[in-house]
Amino acid sequence: MGMSRMAPEVATPRVVARTTGLLTAMGGLAAIGLVLGTPGELARIHPAIAALGPITAVVGLGVMRWGNRVPQLFYRVLLAVGAVGIGLFAYVSPTESGAVAILALMVFASMAAFLFFSLVWSYSFLVELLVIGTVVVVARGDVTAGSALVLGVLVVGSAGAVGVLARRAASAGEDALTGLVNRRGFDEALDAAVRTSVRTGEPLSAALFDLDHFKAVNDARGHAAGDELLRTVADTWSSLLPPGAILARHGGDEFSLLLPGHDGAAALACAEALRATLPDVGTSVGVAQFALGDSPADLMRRADAALYRVKSVGRGRSELDAEGMSPLARDLAAALSAGRAGGLAVHLQPIVTPADGETVGIEALVRWTHPDRGFVPPVEFVPVAEREGLIGALGAFVWTAACEDARTLSEATGRPLFLTVNVSGLELDDPGFVDRVLATLEATGWPAQRTVVEVTESLVEAESTRSVRALEVLREHGLRVAIDDFGTGYSALARLDTLPTDFLKLDNSFVSAITTSSRRARLLRSVMALADALDLILVAEGVETPEQARTLAALGCPLAQGYLYSRPRPVAELVAELAPADVPVV
Ligand code: C2E
Ligand code: CA
Ligand code: CA
Repeated sequence: MGMSRMAPEVATPRVVARTTGLLTAMGGLAAIGLVLGTPGELARIHPAIAALGPITAVVGLGVMRWGNRVPQLFYRVLLAVGAVGIGLFAYVSPTESGAVAILALMVFASMAAFLFFSLVWSYSFLVELLVIGTVVVVARGDVTAGSALVLGVLVVGSAGAVGVLARRAASAGEDALTGLVNRRGFDEALDAAVRTSVRTGEPLSAALFDLDHFKAVNDARGHAAGDELLRTVADTWSSLLPPGAILARHGGDEFSLLLPGHDGAAALACAEALRATLPDVGTSVGVAQFALGDSPADLMRRADAALYRVKSVGRGRSELDAEGMSPLARDLAAALSAGRAGGLAVHLQPIVTPADGETVGIEALVRWTHPDRGFVPPVEFVPVAEREGLIGALGAFVWTAACEDARTLSEATGRPLFLTVNVSGLELDDPGFVDRVLATLEATGWPAQRTVVEVTESLVEAESTRSVRALEVLREHGLRVAIDDFGTGYSALARLDTLPTDFLKLDNSFVSAITTSSRRARLLRSVMALADALDLILVAEGVETPEQARTLAALGCPLAQGYLYSRPRPVAELVAELAPADVPVV
């Protein structure tokens, strides 16, 4: 966005129309005055030229009234034609002083050009004026060199002054590096947007972006590389903004985004979409929705608070400020900031071989004890976390807690257990997901080879290539993938073949019927054959009765899980129960 290609900001259609219309009308009136004021010489002036005055005056009045509806090109033509008109009049003016007075109108024309149009176009228009002026002066022969010089200096000088001032005034709100609005420009737009939102009741949100590794780029590759990165971010994002949105460089490596018409959830989605366009850059975002009674500064303070929270729990995510959240989400956000101390935990449910009931793995299931409401089931708060921007933080908590607890259990019991962790669709779709998981494994010392990611069928049906790619990358690092709740959604049979999958987890509802319906038992046999054919390991979930366990064992189902064997329990209880096995730790 170079300045020379842009018109100054004052050039709103209304201002252009009023000003240009007024100047045109005045030019027309001056021409009429000239014709009427020199009656003796009227005969020398051609009637067609004499008519130009009234015509110009009428055009000028029309432009003042309706000119805000016509494209800018119209004004360029108007000025170009007007310059020729001025030249013609000056040429036919009966007296030297009249000619000079008419040529002086060029000052208005050049000022209008530099006020409203791009520099390139303004300069070419200035050249046109000077050429016309020179032609008139030479053709008439009676204009003194002194007058001609003064006229020239007036035209060029006024144009230059207006051009510089108009651009300086406009660029006060602009960031020189990226061409985006700067903090000052953003604050002006924010004030206006808040007033509009108060008046209309339309939602309004703001987001603050922080580049995660900007300082490292600057330090390692130099300031030029840092500047280049900022420009790339600005260019990429500004080409993707929804209508009415304003992106600003807020200073340093911070960007701010104003989203009129967006509520908090929509703004969060927009911020996530922008974040996703630059997976290599890594950005943290705080989002806040305007609430009645907020000042513009309050809104930005809340966005900043949300950003701070993201930065303090691992970066690389967007989060909605608590004010815009439902009460449950607000409490969850508070719990997440406190981690295990905030009433959050994972419980572990053993996964066993049905033939002998031996525990070979564990599934981590998140638990939350709300300070007032007590136990809140995950089916209730996981969707809230997804909706309100907390799923990244929740996932980060679960992964860390699961890996730590699995390690505790493995070491205490001496069993080479594998660990499965549930991953939500939105979490998996986050470009930073893979790196976060790998970093957590590294930090907790839990081996990738004994880690399984559980995703649901419906999630995988969404066919996000990024999600599929994330699973592939995790598998390249030694993790494995389980399809959870198999048999509940629409059949993903065709996709099972192409998906990076290792385990198939058969849903509770399916398992509960295997002993009461012989059709179900036969269906189970087919599902096992299918799993075999696709080289997938079947895990039967929700095993509650010994009968179900016997049926599974008889059919040769390799793995099972359910209340019969154990409920999900805190790690300490499992440590106490699972006696150390003879097998050494692998
Ligand atoms: P899921 O992944 O299918 O987890 C199995 C659910 O079945 C768990 O419920 C578990 O307690 C329950 N269950 C286990 N054995 C039996 C049984 O024998 N009979 C019956 N009726 N139920 C049994 P929970 O812990 O309430 O979790 C519900 C769902 O919430 C999970 O379904 C999973 O989709 C989601 N979830 C749980 N923890 C997490 C997590 O850490 N992250 C994410 N993204 N989702 C989670
Ligand atoms: Ca699961
Ligand atoms: Ca399941």
